[in-house]
Amino acid sequence: MATSKISCDHCGAPLKYSSGEIIVTCPYCGYTVVIDVGKPFTLEHSLLPSNFNEKKAIDSVKSWMKHSFIAPGDLARRAKFTDVQLQFLPFWIIPITANSTFRGLFERTGPRIEKKGSIKKNYNWIVFGQRKTEFPTREFDIPLEGRMPYDFRKIPEGAKVFNSEIGEHEAVDIAKQQIKNDHRFLAKQDADRIIDLETEFKVGRAYYLHAPVWIMRYKYKGKNYQVFLDGCEGEVIKGDLPTNIGFF
Ligand SMILES: [Zn+2]
Repeated sequence: MATSKISCDHCGAPLKYSSGEIIVTCPYCGYTVVIDVGKPFTLEHSLLPSNFNEKKAIDSVKSWMKHSFIAPGDLARRAKFTDVQLQFLPFWIIPITANSTFRGLFERTGPRIEKKGSIKKNYNWIVFGQRKTEFPTREFDIPLEGRMPYDFRKIPEGAKVFNSEIGEHEAVDIAKQQIKNDHRFLAKQDADRIIDLETEFKVGRAYYLHAPVWIMRYKYKGKNYQVFLDGCEGEVIKGDLPTNIGFF
């Protein structure tokens, strides 16, 4: 992957970043800069501290395996962790109120009738800051209450910090689009066909957040699986499990 170098405006340390990254945080002093405009980042930059070291992270995943109904009984004992890495991943958190009004046709029972409705919800909508990697954002119930101002000294040694490839405005646009899709899905419970759906948004102050996630790979009976674990509270965000269901 191509990397570029500039120096940190605050401490002078070399700042390396990958192509595509537009918001970069200095690993030495925590200063955050917006690359394309070369200006300091003025929004809130928060951090969720990591409370799970590697051993605790593996223990959490093993306990999750033991409590799974579909996993084989010997999984926790026989799973071999092959790659375990703590990453601080970039997210945009967007407080947003979305008010949708829709018109649709209800036709599943009897004659077709027109239906109108509205959906109003408040969110702290989460947008993942990277394009090149997949992350199960919708499954991540980020424990936002535990956040603190970004502090580079709270990043454990060996952890990787990823920067955002998405700016604030784009993150807000992505949030609006995703919310609109969700509301369309909800409206379809009341109407079989949506004729039109309009959504009005009220956007609060977005902030940028780095959250600790353990990305773990394990092997079981020759096959590889992946688990994402929230490094702040130790919950499995999403994980693959071998199942007993298969071809016999
Ligand atoms: Zn610096």
